[in-house]
Amino acid sequence: MKVYQQYINGEFRDAESKEQFEVLNPFTEKVIAMAPKGGARDAALALEAASSAQKSWAAKSCIERAGYLKKMAEIIRANRDMLAQTLAEEQAKILPLAQVEIDATAEYFDYYAGWARKYEGEVIQSDNPKENILLYRQPIGVVVGVCPWNFPFFVMARKVAPSLLTGCTIVLKPSSETPNTTFEFAKLISSIGLPKGVLNFVSGGGSTLGDALVRSPQVGLVTLTGSVETGQRIISASAENITKTSLELGGKAPVIICADCDMDMAVKAVVDSRIIFSGQVCNCAERVYVEAEVYDEFMGKLTKAMSDVTYGDPFADPAPCMSSQINKSQLIKIEEMVAKAKAQGAEVVVGGARGDDQPTGFFYKPTLLANCTQDMEIIRNEIFGPVLPVVKVANFDEALDLSNDCEFGLTSSVFTTNITKMMRAINELKFGETYVNRSHFEAIQGFHAGWRKSGIGGADGKHGLFEYLQTHVAYIQY
Ligand code: NAD
Repeated sequence: MKVYQQYINGEFRDAESKEQFEVLNPFTEKVIAMAPKGGARDAALALEAASSAQKSWAAKSCIERAGYLKKMAEIIRANRDMLAQTLAEEQAKILPLAQVEIDATAEYFDYYAGWARKYEGEVIQSDNPKENILLYRQPIGVVVGVCPWNFPFFVMARKVAPSLLTGCTIVLKPSSETPNTTFEFAKLISSIGLPKGVLNFVSGGGSTLGDALVRSPQVGLVTLTGSVETGQRIISASAENITKTSLELGGKAPVIICADCDMDMAVKAVVDSRIIFSGQVCNCAERVYVEAEVYDEFMGKLTKAMSDVTYGDPFADPAPCMSSQINKSQLIKIEEMVAKAKAQGAEVVVGGARGDDQPTGFFYKPTLLANCTQDMEIIRNEIFGPVLPVVKVANFDEALDLSNDCEFGLTSSVFTTNITKMMRAINELKFGETYVNRSHFEAIQGFHAGWRKSGIGGADGKHGLFEYLQTHVAYIQY
């Protein structure tokens, strides 16, 4: 069994309390690691280290800081197999998808290293003669990064890479479900010569360690990827010091299927977008609106495709399409949502039960629900599991209205060959992202940001970088 330690100020150490928590492999339900149960004292130590290191880190040239990001990318690639194995084990992610996440994480460090010579300030016209107005972009200081369990390695990079590039230092807390990959990474990068305190990893509970981190006046930015409820708690906690927050929260992505779409392509994209990582992805297809004239044809093809989805051991070769849910409480939540939908009149076309044919693990069968209506909880709240609820709509206008009738606003998609419908969807859907004729997945050079309860601010690309920078305007007369 692995035993991990916090990484604070360039040193590995136990939690001050010496307490630890267990990390389970969701597929085998066995304990695979022990991680430190940090609390307020660990938060203080890590924040002190990050604060002390920030000034001299920011004083280095950006290209020098980028050099460390490149080393991180190299080290991830050199340890791809070990990291993918660790990731697949700690969260029951099928091995090929775990490998994709490791590769994308290396790519992410390289991508932000490439911004070193590219981000710029501005020269602004002055009203006065012999005066220059210069706008600088300067690091926001100490960042606290709080991660979810679903993409623990990639989301770690999403917070670490822009922090370090811009001259910020960071204290990052992985989810207690999935700390292993982050701590393996800490071991790997501990020998690349990064100045002490620039990058710190601490694990522990959200309401204890997490809360102590986000409440501190030493923090310039809190960046959370997680649930709406945690986002709300972090906004409250950060209110005292008016700390900036960047929140990437839940989603309830609508998919609009138009009568004129390429049906086979749409079916494949929708199923892929629903079952990736057992439906536990924020940008996943969460509800489908189908124009009435093609409803029966679409449901026929969707039924076949969802019935073909396999599940099982994440390490099996060939790999199944998906594996276990992350834990028992997620499984029960999905089960309850489906039961409620059935009671409200939804019809179970495929699945609709636990995957009890597996020897261990928290499996829910790939599930297709027909006859869903807008008032059902399963259409309104995030499922985060392999369940696809479908609603028949009279026309495209109704599909747009129902898509927008939602508290969340992260991603959305439309399948059509009609240019007017495409353009209307892009202009009228109130979501941070709209995918047209493709599955749900964003690019690292885009900007992943939710509307409404899906968040504040965002990640990736140029706009993601600006989250870590604050402006400073200088008025210079000569
Ligand atoms: P969660 O909100 O339960 O936990 C996220 C992190 O917040 C964990 O590290 C947790 O310990 C910490 N936390 C909890 N309470 C805290 C507090 N009071 N103060 C500080 N930290 C606290 O979320 P989860 O279950 O790990 O992840 C699933 C959720 O994340 C889903 O809703 C999903 O949609 C969302 N998500 C969003 C995106 C996105 O980019 N928008 C990406 C991945 C996941």
